[in-house]
Amino acid sequence: MTSTPLSPTPTAQSEALFARARAVTPGGVNSPVRAFRSVGGTPRFIREAHGAYLTDADGARYLDYIGSWGPMILGHDHPAVREAVAGALQGGTSFGAPSWREVELAELVTRLTGADKVRFTSSGTEATMSALRLARGFTSQHGTGRKFIVKFRGNYHGHADGLLVEAGSGLMTNAAGHLGTSAPSSAGVPEEYAALTLVCEYNDPAALDTLMELRGHEIAAVIFEPVVGNAGVLIPTPDFLAALHRVKEAGALLIADEVMTGFRLSLSGASGLLGIRPDLSCWGKIIGGGLPVGAYGGRADVMEFVSPQGPVYQAGTLSGNPLAMAAGLATLRALEADPDIYPRLESYTSRLAQGLKDAARDAGIPISVNQIGSMLTAFHQDAPHGSVGNYTQAARSDTAAFAAWFQAMLGQGIYWAPSQFESIFVSGAHTVSELDATLEAARHAYRSVSEGASS
Ligand SMILES: *Cc1c(COP(=O)(O)O)cnc(C)c1O
Repeated sequence: MTSTPLSPTPTAQSEALFARARAVTPGGVNSPVRAFRSVGGTPRFIREAHGAYLTDADGARYLDYIGSWGPMILGHDHPAVREAVAGALQGGTSFGAPSWREVELAELVTRLTGADKVRFTSSGTEATMSALRLARGFTSQHGTGRKFIVKFRGNYHGHADGLLVEAGSGLMTNAAGHLGTSAPSSAGVPEEYAALTLVCEYNDPAALDTLMELRGHEIAAVIFEPVVGNAGVLIPTPDFLAALHRVKEAGALLIADEVMTGFRLSLSGASGLLGIRPDLSCWGKIIGGGLPVGAYGGRADVMEFVSPQGPVYQAGTLSGNPLAMAAGLATLRALEADPDIYPRLESYTSRLAQGLKDAARDAGIPISVNQIGSMLTAFHQDAPHGSVGNYTQAARSDTAAFAAWFQAMLGQGIYWAPSQFESIFVSGAHTVSELDATLEAARHAYRSVSEGASS
């Protein structure tokens, strides 16, 4: 083979839209990873999406492995969700007063997750930000003044100031630092805010134990991704989960950020799957079925600290929005009504994992695959499969090789996550024939990377 077998898709319409967008929006996008900065090329402007496929402004069709970064677990334009939103639309789009769908979704979420009470927001960022304010308010009620929180390197919890510290994904740059130090990963975050966020390496139980021993009395909460998606997929070890539970002994609240994993890894999230017992959890993405929703909830005695019942203020003009609640309700009900969906997603995604391993090995391209349920990252590095466990190890990946592979996939109509440090998501709309087409494309793509490297 002398040249790449891949014919690039046309991008004239996307290019034109991107040029207009850049004139009026920073970087031309409303969320950074959409700009394709780490893989190069023109971001595709999407015209519509149905099932497992996206269609872009040039009419090219892509098999989608992003699912809007997680929410679209049923696939795009799912009939039940479309009908629920269309039905809600007949009754007006926002009331600024409570309404019945908020009650139904709260009942459903508490029943499925085991949380006693839940409060809805409009994004995952709001949910984690509010949960941390609540944790500080709750743990300081006896005058102990716990100001600090702990997070883990490479975990992303949205873009609230105090959480933009060693924060993964698009922010995975050359962050230095060691136990307990915190450097803002964004301009505009005062060092004073960042200083209240202590950082540990993920999957390092000894470091967490040491930090809690030294500073436990000052720490309001430990927030973590129960399976990390935002540094690529990282899976927690049992020892690390045990150390997380020990933080409660120091009086800190344990906050599971299930914005990505909630209703994705099981009906009771990563916590249900892995036996985690957090004091509070945060949700987003799937809970809104593709509309803007977040939520936080957990122990009744803690949640009762939220206004208007308690002294910790939190509000939202569009919180509990009827269209968003309708989409969330329809999505969670469809998941609950299909007991086979989680085993199917797991078996399809592990089939994808195995196929990628085989294809990369045959082409002589080193990859290390982490997969759990419908989440998967293939790190371009030669660590054994399943062994990448923290940010430092993930960051060893060959991002140039990933970018070349990504472009080769895109050129064949497969829309993978445009960053090495993201999970891909398989949806209920993917079938075996989509998986086979993906693996066929992946074989070509690994071969073209290998030829590119040797020429
Ligand atoms: C996406 C995500 C967030 C932020 O949610 P937004 O709705 O984008 O604000 C927070 N935490 C995790 C784990 C996420 O994956």
